[in-house]
Amino acid sequence: QAGDLARDLGYHVYAVGGFVRDILLHRRNLDVDLVVEGDGIYFARRLALDLGGRVRAHKKFKTAVIILPDGQRIDVATARLEYYEHPAALPTVELSTVKMDLSRRDFTVNALAVQLDPEQFGRLVDFFGGQKDIKEKTIRVMHSLSFVEDPTRILRAVRFEQRFHFQLGGQTERLIKNAQRLNMMHKLSGSRVFGELRLILNESKPLACLQRLESFNILESIHPLLKLDGNRQRILEETERVLGWYRLLYLDPEPRPWLVYFLGLCSGYNQSQVHLLAHRLAFPQKRENFIQQLRQDISQCREQLGSWMQNHGQVSDLFFLLEPLPLEGVLYLMARGYKDPVRRHLSLYLTQYRGQEPDITGKDLQQMGLPSGPLYRTILQRVLAAKLDGKAPDRPAQLEM
Ligand code: ATP
Repeated sequence: QAGDLARDLGYHVYAVGGFVRDILLHRRNLDVDLVVEGDGIYFARRLALDLGGRVRAHKKFKTAVIILPDGQRIDVATARLEYYEHPAALPTVELSTVKMDLSRRDFTVNALAVQLDPEQFGRLVDFFGGQKDIKEKTIRVMHSLSFVEDPTRILRAVRFEQRFHFQLGGQTERLIKNAQRLNMMHKLSGSRVFGELRLILNESKPLACLQRLESFNILESIHPLLKLDGNRQRILEETERVLGWYRLLYLDPEPRPWLVYFLGLCSGYNQSQVHLLAHRLAFPQKRENFIQQLRQDISQCREQLGSWMQNHGQVSDLFFLLEPLPLEGVLYLMARGYKDPVRRHLSLYLTQYRGQEPDITGKDLQQMGLPSGPLYRTILQRVLAAKLDGKAPDRPAQLEM
């Protein structure tokens, strides 16, 4: 459809970036990036009409995002023709705008495009050897100033390297070390570092990325408190295991993995140390408060879980203890409680009890003629407790961790 529309408008349109890379790697990628040689925003509006999606446009950058009814996103950018490139009479001008766009990208493997307009549908545009680097499983920057121009690319390079089991190119690795010598990480704003750190922590194996970054001393150059010690590494390893187990259950809602890992990165630190980290990563006050509060709640829960175990507490006590905690907090408790018998109970809680509600509602109590008041809450809690404590497990035991 994008191709037909481009033809009707007399534009060229290309799929670019990670979408093309992932096709060549036979990996699923639902985020489509398009580059249009023409008016990108107008193109996005027209395409959204055809596809029944909404458009958010950024006029300043001549970009737009189409959001489809199923939540899928299509990013549309306008390829900018630079003036010095405009001797349009030359035959070489064809592709020069998309070439400009690709040349600004981070790595050769992300600088591939596939033409979508019917004139040349499916033509792979590869100016920078991206295809060869995919074959050779190598992450290579586009030019030697790449990391100095944008040090977040160091975090991105390691993320892609670890995700695809690639290697950094020799020169690319030297350039990272060089950027490190120039202390480039210090110059990066907190929100940009956090943006990339969050992407890393949302990968399926973030620990490998963090260790690789550690091997270049990148983490501590972002902030000395980010340095991994043995204890934090162990917690992160366990977090990976717990999240892997939880993912396979396909339960709703899905957790925010970065948050569980971030709690791990903060383990062993006190409130003011976490404040220093939050400050370096430019957390908005709301996010910092949320994390500080969550840490407090988690440590309280850990203590109470201890006495719950000792006193052979009821399921309903466990339920009322854990239910107020965000899902990420419970997962983190599981990761912390490795080798701990409490972990089995936490896994049972997540697979069988979390989100349970009493079989009656306030409406039923009303219909029974009970005057409304705080008693409702107590009754409903008791009904729920009876249900939980009398409940036989309804899932097979192998779901337990
Ligand atoms: P993912 O699979 O993680 O979504 P992606 O390659 O699609 O990977 P995005 O972060 O969505 O990554 O970026 C889209 C494209 O934008 C990349 O493929 C890359 O070409 C380009 N890009 C993103 N960040 C940078 C950057 N810091 N410098 C240069 N190009 C970038």
